[in-house]
Amino acid sequence: MFNKILIANRGEIACRVIRTARKLGVRTVAVYSDADENAMHVAMADEAVHIGGPASRDSYLVFERVIEAAKQTGAEAIHPGYGFLSENADFCNACKENNIVFIGPPVGAIEAMGSKSAAKNIMGEADVPLVPGYHGEDQSRDIIKKAADDMGYPVLLKAAAGGGGKGMRQVWKEEEFDEALAAAKREAINGFGDDTMLVEKYLTQPRHVEIQVFCDQHGNAVYLFERDCSVQRRHQKVIEEAPAPGMTKEIREAMGQAAIRAAQAIDYEGAGTVEFLLDKDGSFYFMEMNTRLQVEHPVTEYISGQDLVEWQLRVASGEKLPLTQDQLQINGHAFEARVYAEDPDNDFLPVTGTLSFLQPPVESENVRVDTGVRQGDEVSIYYDPMIAKLIVWDEDRDKALSRLTKALSEYRISGMTTNLDFLYNLANSKPFREADLDTGFIEKHNDAIFHSGEQEVARDLPLAALYLVLYREQIASQKASLSPDRHSPWNTTSAWRLNEQHIQEFSLILRDQEYPVKVEQLTAEPTRYSITCNNKTIDAQGVLIDKSTLRSNIDGYQVNATVTHHDDLFSVYTPDNALTFSVAKPDLGDLDMDASGGGLTAPMNGTMVTHLVEAGAGVKKDDALCVMEAMKMEHTIVAPADGVVKAFYYQPGELVDGGAELLDFERNN
Ligand code: ADP
Repeated sequence: MFNKILIANRGEIACRVIRTARKLGVRTVAVYSDADENAMHVAMADEAVHIGGPASRDSYLVFERVIEAAKQTGAEAIHPGYGFLSENADFCNACKENNIVFIGPPVGAIEAMGSKSAAKNIMGEADVPLVPGYHGEDQSRDIIKKAADDMGYPVLLKAAAGGGGKGMRQVWKEEEFDEALAAAKREAINGFGDDTMLVEKYLTQPRHVEIQVFCDQHGNAVYLFERDCSVQRRHQKVIEEAPAPGMTKEIREAMGQAAIRAAQAIDYEGAGTVEFLLDKDGSFYFMEMNTRLQVEHPVTEYISGQDLVEWQLRVASGEKLPLTQDQLQINGHAFEARVYAEDPDNDFLPVTGTLSFLQPPVESENVRVDTGVRQGDEVSIYYDPMIAKLIVWDEDRDKALSRLTKALSEYRISGMTTNLDFLYNLANSKPFREADLDTGFIEKHNDAIFHSGEQEVARDLPLAALYLVLYREQIASQKASLSPDRHSPWNTTSAWRLNEQHIQEFSLILRDQEYPVKVEQLTAEPTRYSITCNNKTIDAQGVLIDKSTLRSNIDGYQVNATVTHHDDLFSVYTPDNALTFSVAKPDLGDLDMDASGGGLTAPMNGTMVTHLVEAGAGVKKDDALCVMEAMKMEHTIVAPADGVVKAFYYQPGELVDGGAELLDFERNN
């Protein structure tokens, strides 16, 4: 085993690797950029070396600096985590040249799988089934287009060097081909510096099922079963689980064997993942092999009882695989939910900010939180907006799912919009509970997940109001108990009036809509209220069992809700959905700056990528005007109406603050 390793990564995965290294008595070296000087991974490591500026191309991607840091600290091996340099053949070579062990596969395997097109050729030869498509070297537009036309639409364009759903575009009809090709190429150049494309038949309802494989340097290979990663947005995984629901023994074995053939075809060593699309009829097709540890590896760890980072370190230091195929078993069921700083109501655009309050659920045998941030840390524009991975385990899928929703309802984050409500609603939705999974899950079940229905609002609004009133009363009585004059009328926040009933009026905001609320305390019974909102007056009773559990009876419907609250935001979690309200600030006049209709301000902090029209051009409503990028995700800004683009305020390459005016737009009358 190594004495000291360097982790060429940041965030949760760097912390994750450090934890196992520590367990094994291996010392750790972190590397960090200017933006990460005080980051959690830096604090956790035994040593840390500064390697450059905040943008990853100036630090985490500069492999010469990483190698230098390893040499300077005497690290014998480098764990690359995922992303960054983890699948970079040049980096792997540079490690070798400097006598540093790369904790991952040999360079030949990375090269073979580095290009999705080349990988397909190899897999075809190893008898691994492929999705029909074109993955040739001739990259002329006409050849790719002809392949698409011949196959028939829909097709999927993919960057050969791609990953993480970037550089990928669905094309539903021929007319969309050119724009999609241009966008995919642009994203590929920005993300990977290579715009080689392949095109595949787009399967409309497949599941994404992947096999974890492990190989050692002694010719042994095993598979640690599958993960179902069908629930995706923007082709990126959101909730993963293991084992895959409904998986038969036969398909599991066939897939496992195909994955091992795939790994052995490229003389694999270490941890790898072979991704397949699983069609309704049980046939499966190779998509790609990721030659590194996956983000979602913890679900496999839970069901197999193994520590995959430990396996990686053992294999890289020359040991044999800890177990044989016969010794591996599936035990129970695990889920992973990726908690992101992003806005599900705004096309999942990444958001940035400071984590002003952060309280994950309590960890236990059944609940694990892998994170790389602490309260007070920034989610910046420079890196992936993932805040944490929440992983749960139990004996079967139903029980594990209950663990997941409970843990999600206990997660408290303030300072930025997150996808927590979305995850909760998704995990609670009927189709997810019934495991009706395919890669179109989110689009298909949009209504069930987003709960934008009046019904939920009508039910949760009084709950939020009731919570707010009870919470304010609790604070008031706490304050009063500390005060020398406990009965002073100044120590109450209920709207106390001499000889009048207690009435509080305020407004709650949900998805930009303001709901005025009036809560009247019925003096005869202190726990009873009359709540008027949404043009209805209802009878409500409630008590706070603890800081965040509200026992309520709203017009004869009794429910225990979890309510989390920080600053002005209240998230109400009922047994089947989650809604976050904010308390409206007192009206200070018209502060609406966004009179243009919202389309022309930057939706997030990011970079201007390209202008799609010239300044001075006349455009039609919904024409694409320019493209912004944040955290490697592109977002197209479209014209809000017919009009003229008079000027762009930002040139390609310039950084743009979220909310900034992007261009001068004049509407046609
Ligand atoms: P990346 O490396 O960018 O993650 P993948 O090739 O792994 O890209 O594909 C990511 C996701 O895109 C898959 O999980 C699946 O949902 C979808 N996908 C990929 N290829 C196809 C296809 N041919 N048909 C339908 N969906 C696909």
